[in-house]
Amino acid sequence: MGGRKYFDPTIETLDRSDLERLQMERLQWQLKRCYEESPFYQERFKKAGIKPEDIRSLADIIHIPPVTKQELRDEQLAHPPFGRYVVARRKDWGELHPSTGTTGVPVNTIWSHRDAKNTASWTARTMWNFGVRPGDIVQNAFSYGLWIAGMSTHYACQLMKCFVIPIGAAMTERQIDYFLNPGSTVLLSTPSYALHIAERLAQRGISPNDIPLRRGCFGGEGGTEVLATREKIERGLGIDAFDYYGLSEIGPTISSECEEKAGLHWVEDHVLIEAINADTGERCRPGEVGVLVMTHLTREALPMIRYWSNDLASLTTERCACGRTHARSPGGILGRSDDMIIYRGAKFYPVQVEKVVRSFGELTNEFRIELTTDEGRGTDICTVVVERMSEEVDSKRLMPLLKKGLKEELLVTPEVNIKPVDSLERTTFKAKRIVDNRKK
Ligand SMILES: [Zn+2]
Repeated sequence: MGGRKYFDPTIETLDRSDLERLQMERLQWQLKRCYEESPFYQERFKKAGIKPEDIRSLADIIHIPPVTKQELRDEQLAHPPFGRYVVARRKDWGELHPSTGTTGVPVNTIWSHRDAKNTASWTARTMWNFGVRPGDIVQNAFSYGLWIAGMSTHYACQLMKCFVIPIGAAMTERQIDYFLNPGSTVLLSTPSYALHIAERLAQRGISPNDIPLRRGCFGGEGGTEVLATREKIERGLGIDAFDYYGLSEIGPTISSECEEKAGLHWVEDHVLIEAINADTGERCRPGEVGVLVMTHLTREALPMIRYWSNDLASLTTERCACGRTHARSPGGILGRSDDMIIYRGAKFYPVQVEKVVRSFGELTNEFRIELTTDEGRGTDICTVVVERMSEEVDSKRLMPLLKKGLKEELLVTPEVNIKPVDSLERTTFKAKRIVDNRKK
């Protein structure tokens, strides 16, 4: 098993035409059962004047209206606790996994026993992608419990016969102890937590060369796709860092980078993925950035048909050097359309601020984007708050350089506030980058 290049060679290198045939078969199965067994989907289909048999090709799926998170929330409030899109029978329910609720009321998701098995299998595939092999000591610093990433990667470790340390996103000192003994070889966490662990490692005077850790994969929030952040994680922990992406409504670990680092590979046999132009609703051309819209092809319990993720990326089906045929998103997730900041006519994303902040060695990894109101003028003020690495850093000299860097990236100049080290709260989970104190 260990010498194999792919976790599941047949499916991962399937010809595109065969893969698309498989997707179509699964899509028809899914549409039919949702139409017959879910009043939620049946109403939506009828409203759009569509029957499952009208979808004759993968491209036809564009005619089905997308489902937003707000619609799921409304449906679950009106028909608690799971809404009328539960398609699996009660006896087949396996696990409950609500969304984190970081952007509002959590949405409940159920996995059937088969869904849990499928998730473990594709997660093992996505971990194999970035080089995890049997015998690896996997330090799993993704949160366990209700947040699904911890569980799915744990199950995948069992499948791959890894030695897993289910520490979760806590106990930073213990994380470092386990790097030393038993000597974890793989770390999974959010990128902000990885940076936090790296800071502590340096403070304890331990060189990354003295720990056996060799690779890590980081997801749950943006960051790893930012080259400067990735390099900081790689240097700080002495590893090769890879990007991971998923979302609770669809699946925690539905894409990861392979060792080529050529973008996120999707598990297209389980999830049909589209990039959609938000203004026109049309499908994007290959390479064009759009909102990712996802459809469950195998999910039994609470299937999503055209879930509007709000996350932005491009797609390509160009063959990757690794030999896998499944579509990729080069450069990873480019932002959440929810997080877009409009300031003095310019539009930008926190990830762009991160790119600039992380390119300054004099600054720590923490930053915030604070939005306030100038009460005199009634206009917005956007301030990027950062921390200097030490007392020796000359803020007066740094300020104009930082403003220039931000201006070049964002096409607008925010205010800048350089604070002493440790002024901003560290996080072991998802970092909250935007603080909105505007008078509404
Ligand atoms: Zn690849």
